[in-house]
Amino acid sequence: MHEELQRRCGPNTESYNRAVQRLRDGGAAEADAHSPDDEQCKYVVSISYRGLGNRILAAASAFLYAVLTGRVLLVDPSNEMDELFCEPFPGTTWLLPRDFPLASSNANFSADTAESYGNMLKNKVLGTDGSTDGDMPAAQMPAFAYLHLDHDYGDGDKMFFCDDDQRLLSNIQWLVMRTDTYIVPSLFLVTTFQDELDALFPERDAVFHHLGRYLFHPANHVWGLVARYYRAYLATARQLVGVQVRVFDHRQAKSPHVVLEQISSCAWQETLLPAVLDAVEDAAMPTPPTTPHGGSNNSKAVLITSLRPWFYERIKAMYWERATATGEDVSVHQPSHEEYQHFGEKSHDGKAWAEMYLLSLCDVLVTSGWSTFGYVAQGLGGLRPWVMYKTVNITAVPDPPCGRDVSMEPCFHSPPFYDCKTKRGVDTGTILPHVRHCDDVSWGLKLVDPNGSPN
Ligand code: GDP
Repeated sequence: MHEELQRRCGPNTESYNRAVQRLRDGGAAEADAHSPDDEQCKYVVSISYRGLGNRILAAASAFLYAVLTGRVLLVDPSNEMDELFCEPFPGTTWLLPRDFPLASSNANFSADTAESYGNMLKNKVLGTDGSTDGDMPAAQMPAFAYLHLDHDYGDGDKMFFCDDDQRLLSNIQWLVMRTDTYIVPSLFLVTTFQDELDALFPERDAVFHHLGRYLFHPANHVWGLVARYYRAYLATARQLVGVQVRVFDHRQAKSPHVVLEQISSCAWQETLLPAVLDAVEDAAMPTPPTTPHGGSNNSKAVLITSLRPWFYERIKAMYWERATATGEDVSVHQPSHEEYQHFGEKSHDGKAWAEMYLLSLCDVLVTSGWSTFGYVAQGLGGLRPWVMYKTVNITAVPDPPCGRDVSMEPCFHSPPFYDCKTKRGVDTGTILPHVRHCDDVSWGLKLVDPNGSPN
């Protein structure tokens, strides 16, 4: 049904052209000049920015919002969003045409934009208190509203997550949403959406898994990176262990030994990888376990992703220079080491996307807390990862070094803490059993299965 809407109202249709014209005219056209069809064509434009993980979470969030509100999703093609994915909707494009009237402003939308929902509430251009309520004639409503849902959003912008505000927004034909995060957990707190969310997602902790696997398919050049790497290095292993290393703290980057120890302690304590013998133990082994196994496959492959090669080199050397306690062979691989985050570079983003996808193909996953790169991999893979938490004291490995995440869902890093009904602050992580705080970002929100995850 949503695909039909995308085709009927998407770019290159009469309805789209009329809706764009209306936007150009500032929404002031006569209401009766529109066919009933146009009234049904409403749009949400998703502007995403920052790293690829952030962009993917933003587009997935906008898509779910589009489905819940019966709007067409159009994605701003800048920041390589037009290069990395296949078109998800058959028979139409999800890319916002380059001649879209607001396209030049897309990069400049911010908390200060006059048409932001928060500013329109503040300046009484819109209101839910009856002065300018949701029943005002469509022709008098602004042609578009900008939804500023970034980490730095204000109290007015946060009203987006309230029922009355959603009713008001439903009368605006164009919504432009800019976010860098996964807002989905807070959509579950909007009463209007709850019935449909219940029907769509009986498994509460598989929302991004379904959204992501529907929307994000690597474009051909990225698929080539995934397939060639998988076949050449990973396909024959009995088990694949993904380790996503993201070092945010510059101080940690200067003492990587602690991070290295955190990785190996996590993998060994949780028996994800075999420990290595020390030199004495190795020499005392009566039957060296390194004898090739005639045909039987007892190997594990570790896929490391990181901006730097340092961890990979150490872990690879460790498994080459020492035997493992279990006799398993461990091969270690890292597709790229880009050194730093390059912005707006197709080949860099393609590698990042390929690596997220390869991680999602692993059997088990160790991720770095806080990282949206890891969130995308775990969500696509349907994997509840072991998360290496960030530590305050960067000179010591935390104890325990990692913990099993409560669900495979991404964490919403900047949720509102507001009860729309009582109009007071509230801990939004305690309202519904399936919307809880995250382990890695204590004030964040994530969807969990309230009955507990069995594995
Ligand atoms: P986050 O910053 O960890 O939340 O993840 P993002 O994906 O949003 O931003 C980090 C960006 O840095 C990625 O999109 C890549 O461009 C780059 N990057 C970080 N880690 C890696 C990695 O392991 N491999 C590659 N290829 N790129 C990475």
